[in-house]
Amino acid sequence: MDGRLVPGAGGAFETINPATEEVLGTAADASADDMDRAIAAARRAFDETGWATDRAFRARCLRQLREGLRRRADELRELTIQEVGAPRFLTFGAQLDAPVDDLAWFADLVEDYAWERDLGRAEPMGMPSHRRVVREAVGVVGAITPWNFPHQINLAKLGPALAAGNTVVLKPAPDTPWCAAVVGEVIAEETDIPPGVVNVVTSSDHALGAQLTRDPRVDLVSFTGSTATGRNVMASAAGTLKRVFLELGGKSAFVVLDDADLRAACSYAAFAGITHAGQGCAITTRILVPRERHDEAVEITAGALAKLGAGDPQDDRTICGPVISARQRERIEVYLELAVEDGGAFACGGGRPEGRDRGFWIEPTLITGLTNDSRAAREEIFGPVLVILPHDGDDDAVRIANDSPYGLSGAVHGGDVERARGVARRLRTGTVSVNGGVWYGADVPFGGYKQSGIGREMGVAGFEEYLETKSIAEGV
Ligand code: NAD
Repeated sequence: MDGRLVPGAGGAFETINPATEEVLGTAADASADDMDRAIAAARRAFDETGWATDRAFRARCLRQLREGLRRRADELRELTIQEVGAPRFLTFGAQLDAPVDDLAWFADLVEDYAWERDLGRAEPMGMPSHRRVVREAVGVVGAITPWNFPHQINLAKLGPALAAGNTVVLKPAPDTPWCAAVVGEVIAEETDIPPGVVNVVTSSDHALGAQLTRDPRVDLVSFTGSTATGRNVMASAAGTLKRVFLELGGKSAFVVLDDADLRAACSYAAFAGITHAGQGCAITTRILVPRERHDEAVEITAGALAKLGAGDPQDDRTICGPVISARQRERIEVYLELAVEDGGAFACGGGRPEGRDRGFWIEPTLITGLTNDSRAAREEIFGPVLVILPHDGDDDAVRIANDSPYGLSGAVHGGDVERARGVARRLRTGTVSVNGGVWYGADVPFGGYKQSGIGREMGVAGFEEYLETKSIAEGV
């Protein structure tokens, strides 16, 4: 906070390894007064330093941050596996290395972006004028993040927000304070980022997030989390009419067309669906398969899920580790019960894996026999739980895929790529993968239609979320 590592006025709270329930250690537990000081520091840094206007300096600082995090990659990898329960293989991608590397893209963007556009002369209402449009930072950004991909989400907010010239108060989820605290540590110790530009406020109390959304000194709230919390954020931000940028939940469809290689598609759907125990907002958790091949698809998918299993996140081969907490496990178990009440059955899984008495585990699970209007098929479960549903051709598949309050992501698999692409274009979602294509990248905007969010993260569109637009006209 304000350039220094300080203890929390609320003392400290424990952070826990979800694979073992072992207490890893403690994090500073910030109080409301700490949050107040963090916001004041960010406000001061924005209003009273040259941070917002010195682009070359900002690009250099972002590169320092990337190098500082890269130097600590080995330590961060172990920390991430332990605190998040993230499978090791993911730390070489979206759980660590990719978002750290992506900071370079935002540093380059500071240098390449067209900050000013000359609209030239005109004579509106007979008054000769020279018009320019300039882009500049919004001001103080309150960044509120969840626990599932903490580095990816923390850095996908810090990177563009800082590149744009804002100052930031980052409030991470109480489940993963260390992943955020370490970024603050690297900033304080290994970069020239001035005091107050980034403040990382760890706390066991969700109310500190709400405080950020209300405070008039905060200009923009950049929130990633559940749709329910997103609604509260938007309502609370309305009091001071601050800008809100929301990345929320999803219930994305994996559409298998009737000309697809069923074995390849369903095996991939199983892998994608339970990666990181299904704790990804964009994970495709509804598998839509041709009705005439439904039983075969169930057999392939269930077989693949059972083979993948749930395993120790330390192990290189693990795809599905633990879920984050006992609370999250209970939430998932409620959905498993609801699925059965609604007439569903488990083609595999359906409970806790045998022999894992410590840690928070759910078996990879495939639910059959439901319709798209059952709760397990409509609501976000956020666990390694997939629902398989039959469709009657492309139009029906599109109808079912779009029959959702969410619109975050989707996938289409088919033999004829043009046809698959056509189906992809009809999905009302922010991202779509066709035949296994990967849309993730610093240059690719990511975000949701409908109740999956407002705005885009990453890419130029994501960067522009953190900019204001000012039009200047000179009388000539
Ligand atoms: P959550 O909504 O419970 O919490 C997210 C963050 O909001 C936490 O830091 C929390 O402390 C804070 N918070 C809680 N109440 C608040 C309030 N009233 N005002 C302000 N902040 C508040 O979500 P979670 O359980 O941490 O994360 C899982 C959810 O995040 C899932 O729904 C998932 O889909 C979503 N998610 C979305 C994306 C995306 O990019 N669309 C990415 C990852 C996760």
